[in-house]
Amino acid sequence: MRYHKILKKINELYKEMAGKTDLELQKYTSVFKEKIKKGVREEELLVEAFAVMREADRRVLQLFPTDEQILGAIAIYYGNIAEVKTGEGKSLIATLPLYLKALHGQTAFLVTTNNYLAHRDYERIGNVYRWLGISVADGSQSNEEEFDIEQKKIMYSASVIYISNSTLAFDFLINGLAESSSERYMPQLDFALLDEVDEILLDGAQMPLIISGAPKIQSNYFEVSNSFVELLIQGKDFEIDEERQNVWLTPKGIEYAKQYFSVNNLLDQAYFTLYQHIIIALKAHYILKKGKNYLVEEGKVKLLDHKNGRILEGSNLQSGLHQALEAKEQVEITQETQIISSITYQNLFRKFSSLAGMSGTAKVAESEFINTYNLPVKKIRTHKKSIRIDHKPKQYVTFKAKIEAVLKKIIDLHSTGRPLLIIAGSVDASELLSMHLLDKGIPHNVLNAKNSSKEAKIIKEAGRVGAITVATAMAGRGTDIKMEHEAIERGGLVVIITERMLNKRIELQAKGRAGRQGEPGETYVFESLEDDIIKLFVQEKVQKYYDKHLLSSSEVRSRKIRKSFYQAQKIAEEKAENERIKALQFDEVFLLQKRMIDKSREEIIRLSNINEAIVFFETHARIALDNFFFKRKSANELQRFILDYVDYNFKKNTLESEKEEIISQVNYVLNLVKNSLYHKRKQINDDETFFHYLQITMLKALDTIWSEQVDALNQLRVVVESRTTAQKKAIFEFETEAQRSYKLRQKEVSKLILKNVTLSTIEIKKEELIITFP
Ligand code: ADP
Repeated sequence: MRYHKILKKINELYKEMAGKTDLELQKYTSVFKEKIKKGVREEELLVEAFAVMREADRRVLQLFPTDEQILGAIAIYYGNIAEVKTGEGKSLIATLPLYLKALHGQTAFLVTTNNYLAHRDYERIGNVYRWLGISVADGSQSNEEEFDIEQKKIMYSASVIYISNSTLAFDFLINGLAESSSERYMPQLDFALLDEVDEILLDGAQMPLIISGAPKIQSNYFEVSNSFVELLIQGKDFEIDEERQNVWLTPKGIEYAKQYFSVNNLLDQAYFTLYQHIIIALKAHYILKKGKNYLVEEGKVKLLDHKNGRILEGSNLQSGLHQALEAKEQVEITQETQIISSITYQNLFRKFSSLAGMSGTAKVAESEFINTYNLPVKKIRTHKKSIRIDHKPKQYVTFKAKIEAVLKKIIDLHSTGRPLLIIAGSVDASELLSMHLLDKGIPHNVLNAKNSSKEAKIIKEAGRVGAITVATAMAGRGTDIKMEHEAIERGGLVVIITERMLNKRIELQAKGRAGRQGEPGETYVFESLEDDIIKLFVQEKVQKYYDKHLLSSSEVRSRKIRKSFYQAQKIAEEKAENERIKALQFDEVFLLQKRMIDKSREEIIRLSNINEAIVFFETHARIALDNFFFKRKSANELQRFILDYVDYNFKKNTLESEKEEIISQVNYVLNLVKNSLYHKRKQINDDETFFHYLQITMLKALDTIWSEQVDALNQLRVVVESRTTAQKKAIFEFETEAQRSYKLRQKEVSKLILKNVTLSTIEIKKEELIITFP
């Protein structure tokens, strides 16, 4: 109601705006900015600013935002997710709230799910901001080979930025690894409007974005663990909780492993790595499925994105799981790399002070949006009434009966010349359907992760008279299938969904391809008791019915059984939500520790001169020495320490006697440290450069320690989760162990600072300082 009132005011004021000259209209931006400076609240400018932008949209883009679009824009401004159906013009809606938010002088982000979309929207829309005197940048235009900080600085100084979620995340991570304040470019994370918000915050939420560094020392357990788990019997040696994607060894399995690897106690700390490799080998074999979770292509394991079935290029599973899959598939085992820094989208976007979103499918997940992100969903009605016909799902007992019904429907509809889009649940299922169609001599295109290079061409053809396109969920979100005029006359696109999907949103997105902007269209759904989701979640409930009707090819009539399709989907959705909540809880522990590391990084970056840097270093050197001399050390131990942390060339004969007081031993080493520092300074022979040297080597120590900690935490998580099925307990255990390991590693920080500063070697090439860390 309140929004309609605002709309009315905008409509009234709009008439006035339409009568203004370009120049008069453009002047508003500086007037608004001035008002904000004088303390006028942003909200008070809403009506005026939206009226101005609406007219600017009309003059610059030749698109006049409809009343529905204005309502969507108001909802977004007030921190909601606007549910706007496909084709209703989300990009245009975004101009209004982004303009208003940009008046503050802080950055307003429009976040898309890929670079292509960011670039496309920037090209289509960007001019309207410029016309009104608001700077706008295209975040997809970065130099892929070489990260260019100057370019980033320019981009991030714009008021409105169109950017993909992954570019934003990586830029955020790299900014966090800056070696000095001059290398920073990230503005305050103030306002972000997320396009396809459910894809970003729900489906893609847990996927960590990772900056990886040097290869880790490769474990040689992958192959042996793989051979070992191939001998195991499910139920006897190990158990699977497929719902929770968890595996563990039974006592029998543990006994077997002890024999196989000739170890006396597999659960002992000493065999932690081995145990962990067995668990990940089990996961690779029994949880991850080829054709669904990954593909093998050109001798490489490639992950599939579960939300749209696309190949996740350049993305690997962490904590050795990728290598375990490679062992299972007998392809070359790649190097595991160390994680330098990582973040999930969940956590990145929680860092913004205000968020809003848009999507065609958000209402069904509203409770989670509210609980996790405090984002309510407002449904915006379509401009033209939707005349799409959605048929009730047809449900069969067996896969075979279902496929026969699907084929019959395809043949019937194909004869009318209407374009058909057939949606399959996985790459394998799409290929199977394609084979059946070939059998019947029906020409068609297939769009799945294996031929995504032809995507644009296939989608272009999909709206023609007589076209049949078999696709995975790839053809869902964001794909605009333009209808040939004659195809519309024949009744428009028909979407045929061929199995019960993991969540309602995938189904709605697929259906949304048909009947856009008031066009005619139709959707059908076919499913069977042999669909994956039924087998996973409600098998027991339907087993009796299934056994009894195994040979029936007619539709399921029992209400109870029909309901189970819906229940299976509900369970799958709840499970996915639980996983996301759990991921947040685990991440919370990471974040807490990361915050402490970041605080220390900040202290180092903020050091303003060489004297401060030396004092900082000496404090840490002192802590390292105090820790070391906590107990009296033998002459040998002392010598080892000096060689490892202070001076490679230290000669034993200069060492003071063992009988010395600890205090004079400490002072003795401290002098060596100061001496070493003095030599470094002399060698570099330039205070500015020496200051920089200190900062870099000390930051490097923090980054190294954090990288080790991330690794340890990731492994710990795998183990904790496989040890217990109770979620609460797992998180509690994780927290306790994580804190313990952090405390230990904290001590390492001072030691590594000492070592990095004293033992790094330097070279000055063409006035550039090159540091080799010990
Ligand atoms: P969505 O992202 O909501 O699916 P888009 O932003 O891609 O939709 O817009 C779909 C199409 O509708 C585009 O071609 C766009 O130019 C057009 N469009 C959007 N708003 C309007 C409008 N108010 N008047 C006319 N055409 C519009």
